[in-house]
Amino acid sequence: MAETMTGGCQCGRVRYEVEIASDDAYLCHCRMCQKATGGIAAAFVQVESPINWLGEPDWYDSSPVAHRPFCSTCGTPLGFAWKTTSKG
Ligand SMILES: [Zn+2]
Ligand SMILES: [Zn+2]
Repeated sequence: MAETMTGGCQCGRVRYEVEIASDDAYLCHCRMCQKATGGIAAAFVQVESPINWLGEPDWYDSSPVAHRPFCSTCGTPLGFAWKTTSKG
């Protein structure tokens, strides 16, 4: 059952909408998630459909194969994505 979820950063500059197939969430304890959030784990919900960004996030490379969106104004981490070859 798909439903639309919205979210964003602390200061409100970056907002998004995304369709989620289920509300199953998981914690990732890998070293890069610990560094990305400053905590012991990062919480994620897997999404299949593209995220509709209502305010463009900033991106940084967290590893050679992945990058993470964040807000450069308030510093909120906004997720994780594998790099696609088409996006350079
Ligand atoms: Zn922000
Ligand atoms: Zn991780």
